[in-house]
Amino acid sequence: MNEKNIDALLSSLEQLAAATLAALAAAKNQHELQLAFAAFLGKGGDFTALVKLTGTLPVDERPRFGAAINVAKTRCEEFRAQRQSELNTAEISHKLASERIDVTLPGRRGFIGSKHPITLVSEEICEIFTSLGFGIAEGPEIEKDFYNFEALNMPKDHPARDMQDTFYISDEVVLRTHTSPVQIRTMLKEKPPVRIIAPGTVYRRDSDITHSPMFHQIEGFLVDQHVTFGDLKGILHSFIAQFFGKGVNVRFRPSFFPFTEPSAEVDIACVICGGKGCRVCKNSGWLEILGSGMIDPEVFKSVNYDPEVYSGFAFGMGLERVAMLKYGVSDLRLFFENDQRFLRQF
Ligand SMILES: [Zn+2]
Repeated sequence: MNEKNIDALLSSLEQLAAATLAALAAAKNQHELQLAFAAFLGKGGDFTALVKLTGTLPVDERPRFGAAINVAKTRCEEFRAQRQSELNTAEISHKLASERIDVTLPGRRGFIGSKHPITLVSEEICEIFTSLGFGIAEGPEIEKDFYNFEALNMPKDHPARDMQDTFYISDEVVLRTHTSPVQIRTMLKEKPPVRIIAPGTVYRRDSDITHSPMFHQIEGFLVDQHVTFGDLKGILHSFIAQFFGKGVNVRFRPSFFPFTEPSAEVDIACVICGGKGCRVCKNSGWLEILGSGMIDPEVFKSVNYDPEVYSGFAFGMGLERVAMLKYGVSDLRLFFENDQRFLRQF
């Protein structure tokens, strides 16, 4: 071995150090840095191979070469540590940037639902009648024929049953066609005086633009001694003034219901045209809103009230119809389509 030999090794060492530094500088992440380090400075790396050549040098030159290797190695290791911390910082700040919270963004609002228009109308009517001294009662939607028809003076084969044809569960059990069975259930439980308002879901077997097989009614009745048709008119006038507004014209028209005698349909002056005549009121100027009458003595007999002692009145209306008039809704089916754009307006 001679001088040339150590010069060649020192030059190789210099090239190796430069290549190592370049590779460490080029690493774009911790993984690449790890690979570059292993290739040059790890076990079996190029530096290790070069160290092994020390033995080929003359003994007196070996320390010089060994020192040069240590200097180069230390430089590379220090640079590796520096790169490692640079890449760490870069990764953390990249993470922070991509996960940044923009406090100026509007928050996600929880969806707050609103009450269905039928519920709103039902609650308002109940409120008006409770302020007039009525209590609220409810009954089952699956009802016995006795409560739905028979006790209300509609024996089997009564023609009025055809008007309310419904869904039979069995010969004696039906989906109730009106809220009137609540009258029977209440009167069988309580003695007069009774004053009740009964909202609820009812079922009939028809379906078109103005009819749904499932709809809602609200029923009211009052039984006491000396109750007259004048009391009925007074209560209904008071209700209509509170619900549709003071000064709305009201008229009673003779009608027929099996469970009231005499019976009357109640109309109000058309809320759309004010009584002049329009498409909604079919040019009559009037809108039918409810049915009413004095409770038939036959009904009292089926609940063991003495018709010689007690008298009373009853009335009922369709909540969909009332809601359509109050909110100006033209199609009844909108109430049951669950369309948010429609329901959000109430
Ligand atoms: Zn009209």
